Amino acid sequence: MTAAVIDGKAFAEGLRARVADYAATFEQSAGRKAGLAVVLVGDDPASQVYVASKARQTVACGMASFEHRLPADTAQADLIALVDRLNADASVDGILVQLPLPAHLDEQAVVERIDPAKDVDGLTPISTGRLALGLPGLVPCTPLGSLMLLKDRLGSLSGLDAVVIGRSILVGKPMAQLLLAENCTVTIAHSRTRDLPDVVRRADIVVAAVGRPELVRGDWLKPGAVVIDVGINRLPPAEGEAKGRLVGDVAYAEAMAVASAVTPVPGGVGPMTIAVLLRNALVAAHRNAGVPLAEGAL
Ligand code: NAP
Repeated sequence: MTAAVIDGKAFAEGLRARVADYAATFEQSAGRKAGLAVVLVGDDPASQVYVASKARQTVACGMASFEHRLPADTAQADLIALVDRLNADASVDGILVQLPLPAHLDEQAVVERIDPAKDVDGLTPISTGRLALGLPGLVPCTPLGSLMLLKDRLGSLSGLDAVVIGRSILVGKPMAQLLLAENCTVTIAHSRTRDLPDVVRRADIVVAAVGRPELVRGDWLKPGAVVIDVGINRLPPAEGEAKGRLVGDVAYAEAMAVASAVTPVPGGVGPMTIAVLLRNALVAAHRNAGVPLAEGAL
């Protein structure tokens, strides 16, 4: 058996096209564009690439992009003051502070300062709490994008056994909450889990968000399982390669021989993250401007 490849790139393109349509009608109703502000502190090259890509895609979807690049030695008080200004700015619907921040800054305090109505990354305690309570709110982009791919593939997830490997605030925990809300029976595994292969073997849905190259092997999977590989790991360069290959947390070729569907790395979950960020910004814009948006429209 060869599993189907879950094409996150194509799904993300479709989502961005829907966002662009709704962004245009939002602009007509609200008399302004939806706006997303991205704050980058320091000059981490990977973060620079992400931020540039976010700004480009925001504009391409017909929304306003506000970029704030601050030097690496920015003081906590200055960063907090910027977040306060963005909170108060009516043209800004979403605020994303690119993480990680330089070590001298208190990341948690900065995230907590973001107005939950503009928390497009879904990381404030209010957003996290609302997700746990099953209340509407903004949900972290990568797990929400992973859920969209799962629902597109499987339809109803009700009653399925799901194993999420990883318990980060960014991916594992919100992923588990989302799957629980879809009536899955959810297990969260982590670095202290005993006999991980056995735990994974019972899952109809496996979400790997670990950061360990090819940790999950084909013989850990139940035949027919659907596998969402969130991991992005760069291998050391092989001889003659300038850069090492990107691989996920799942041994892809092995999984393809056992599972029914697998997300590739790259081209699976990765492209979903920015598309969902734009979606979250537009959902926030509708709420902030009091413009109705049909439930499930985006
Ligand atoms: P993280 O904060 O480092 O969390 C990793 C989790 O994996 C932790 O809960 C850890 O357990 C668990 N873990 C580590 N080693 C393990 C092992 N051997 N067996 C079982 N569990 C283990 O990472 P993250 O932010 O969630 O990200 C995870 C991966 O997803 C990374 O590769 C990251 O690059 C990728 N990612 C991709 C996207 C995207 O857009 N596609 C977005 C975000 C992240 P403990 O809690 O016990 O330490």
